[in-house]
Amino acid sequence: MNYVSTRDKSVKVTAANAIARGISAEGGLFVPDTFPTFTAEDFDRLQKLDYIGRAKYVLKYFLNDFTDDEIDYCVRGAYTGSFDNGNPAPISVVGKNMNILELWHGPTCAFKDLALQLLPYLLTTSAKKTAAGKKTVILVATSGDTGKAALEGFKDVPDTEIMVFYPSDGVSPMQKLQMDSQKGGNVHVCAIKGNFDDAQTGVKKIFTDNAVKEKLAEHNMQFSSANSINWGRLAPQIVYYVSAYCDLLLRGEDLNDGFNVVVPTGNFGNILAAYYAKKMGVPINKLICASNSNNVLTDFINTGVYDRNRKFFTTISPSMDILISSNLERMLFELSGCDDKAVAVMQAKLSSDGKFSVSEEVKDKMEELFWGGYLDDKQTLDTIGDMFKEYGYLCDTHTAVAVGVYKQYVTKTKDGRPAIIASTASPYKFADSVLSAVTDKKTDSEFGNVRLLSEVTSTDIPEPIKMLENAEVRFKEICDKDKMLDAVYEALKIK
Ligand SMILES: *Cc1c(COP(=O)(O)O)cnc(C)c1O
Repeated sequence: MNYVSTRDKSVKVTAANAIARGISAEGGLFVPDTFPTFTAEDFDRLQKLDYIGRAKYVLKYFLNDFTDDEIDYCVRGAYTGSFDNGNPAPISVVGKNMNILELWHGPTCAFKDLALQLLPYLLTTSAKKTAAGKKTVILVATSGDTGKAALEGFKDVPDTEIMVFYPSDGVSPMQKLQMDSQKGGNVHVCAIKGNFDDAQTGVKKIFTDNAVKEKLAEHNMQFSSANSINWGRLAPQIVYYVSAYCDLLLRGEDLNDGFNVVVPTGNFGNILAAYYAKKMGVPINKLICASNSNNVLTDFINTGVYDRNRKFFTTISPSMDILISSNLERMLFELSGCDDKAVAVMQAKLSSDGKFSVSEEVKDKMEELFWGGYLDDKQTLDTIGDMFKEYGYLCDTHTAVAVGVYKQYVTKTKDGRPAIIASTASPYKFADSVLSAVTDKKTDSEFGNVRLLSEVTSTDIPEPIKMLENAEVRFKEICDKDKMLDAVYEALKIK
């Protein structure tokens, strides 16, 4: 297996290259040129393994130029001791058919830990193969959770520097504090005046600027990305869908007609990983794409027209406040039958007009695979309240969007298959909103609300959130969105 660019299939690289570079030079994203297909025997074997074993089994197909020892070192390093109950992806069964796949038991209480605990290992192993001796500079644009998860993953990793940009008014107070208090000698955090798309566009621009690349090379440095445009972020996410399927099988669920997967979606990385799992033989029926009021994907799935020219909403599920879903590009490549020219044209239209449409054929394929729906903030809070009242299950705002859209789906289609619902953050990460959904009481401080939420719901506060209360704020900088490059040079001391 090799990796090709979504915008130019003649660009063909190894896994280590794809991961070390993050993005292809002409702006395309790296995708595998073939996928493994798992048989019933594979799934029999996989069921008997623990999460680390399953991860190694799946990942070896995607890390074609890694040795078995390297894969073992990477996977063990990432998933040993960093998740609070040993299993990084446990399932809570809630009500009929709802299997909540809790992906937030890692160090930053969001699902991004599943990928970002592993990525630094993959990236440093890749860099050794492809660019020995160079320092890797990780640039991240974040709508909240990626930033903290990447900082935790990369802190004090030798031969790396990491710089995170986040929208100053676009993240929750808890997310902001998590990032601004980050420890480590190689970490840099900067808020920007703008929204997430501004941050993401800024980072992409820096990445693809040849003059900047040359300047870094002079200092023996090279960029890479920890955003979900990096293949090293996506591969680890395929693992938990394979693993969840194994867990359903082990429980003796009837899966002859398959099961549905519901994903609260922003940049389209998580749901794309579920699609890849389906492609590899996991019997997923519908991929249900759940959005908040920034429902550009709902409209796209329902009409075949992607149009980012719309009002941007700051919602209570901020990690999904996104109008340009980067990983959709990989999906378009799949849907168009690996038509790199067509993808390049669509992406060019997206950047010039903020809009593109797909052919009837692509639209039909999309409708067969996906179902799209969205919830506004009020519906999201109501869903959290209902879930707690009905099942005593407390979920965060993003997960609630998925649960609510799943209910819409069942109402519309009467589909009775079991569902895996991706739960992407701990409720304590968004304690203010979650609290307001379950009680009228509140305090006047963030951590007061955290404690109150624990009292009112009899649930435990995750350790990483507890520790934040007395954390020292290290980063206070806010920069203009067109001054991001200066901030990078300053952090790297190469001005
Ligand atoms: C990042 C994030 C999402 C969106 O995931 P994508 O892979 O970008 O679609 C959803 N929920 C939470 C809590 C997140 O951190």
